[in-house]
Amino acid sequence: MFFPPSPFEKRTFNKQIFYIKRDDLLDKDFSGNKARKFYYFLTHDFPHIKRVVSSGSNQSNAMYSLSVLARLKGWEFIYVCDHLSHFLKENPMGNYKAALANGMNIIESHLREEEAEKWLDAKSLHVKEGGRQREAEEGMKILANELLSDIQTHSIQNPYLFFPSGTGTTALFLQKHLPFPVFTCNTVGNSVYLEEQWKMVEPDLTRLPTILETKRKYHYGKLYPELFELWKSLKNEMGVEFDLVYDPVGWKTLLEHISSLDGTPIYLHQGGILGNSSMIARYARKANML
Ligand SMILES: *Cc1c(COP(=O)(O)O)cnc(C)c1O
Repeated sequence: MFFPPSPFEKRTFNKQIFYIKRDDLLDKDFSGNKARKFYYFLTHDFPHIKRVVSSGSNQSNAMYSLSVLARLKGWEFIYVCDHLSHFLKENPMGNYKAALANGMNIIESHLREEEAEKWLDAKSLHVKEGGRQREAEEGMKILANELLSDIQTHSIQNPYLFFPSGTGTTALFLQKHLPFPVFTCNTVGNSVYLEEQWKMVEPDLTRLPTILETKRKYHYGKLYPELFELWKSLKNEMGVEFDLVYDPVGWKTLLEHISSLDGTPIYLHQGGILGNSSMIARYARKANML
């Protein structure tokens, strides 16, 4: 196997016990959700491939992880994003900086899917935005098996798993391979968007995760001081740094629903910490402007 199992830890927050699956600690260079998602590409040989092409936002975790994959495989990496601010160009940081250091070729285009298509040939691998594709199932099956063994080791009764979704690919495949409930929330769009994403990846929709809604609507990647405060409390009380894009929405949702959920909560930490420096810089600039 490529990675040893990630740690599994018991923590307390607000007097409530949470088990945390630490996929953020999976590997130094290739951690978290995207390491699981791209496991298939990491562990199979693609002798005819010379280039990987993808598109998405300029601070995405998928972008950074693909830059690692490309470097390990010796592939060229073409990444299309729709806009690079003058500020980011002058002050590279976070995932963007790290991906550039791995040799990413970045292309700006307002029609990013169409632009990405132009770079595809017989020797290219196309990775969908956010890694929403069937190949993700292989890594998720391994994660599901690790969780089953963690639960047994810790003698956890009546477990349920919670984590925030982007495309929902992770939640879909984990629920497919786990016998207990998987709860998630959307950080992009709404729950209808998440269900549409699921239909695009997997025709067999007999076992779907359960979507929990927040009282208030949070827009993807936007700054919310209340969520930043929650992120700081989680860090102070549990000694765990979560990501600032998905996890604060995830924890807010879980805490809003926890009293009505039956069983022992397991929170999946999907990594993404490398992106925190750019989010913290945005919060700091926002605070200075207030
Ligand atoms: C990509 C990512 C997600 C979203 O995963 P999906 O499978 O698209 O739902 C959540 N958290 C982190 C840290 C990620 O990198």
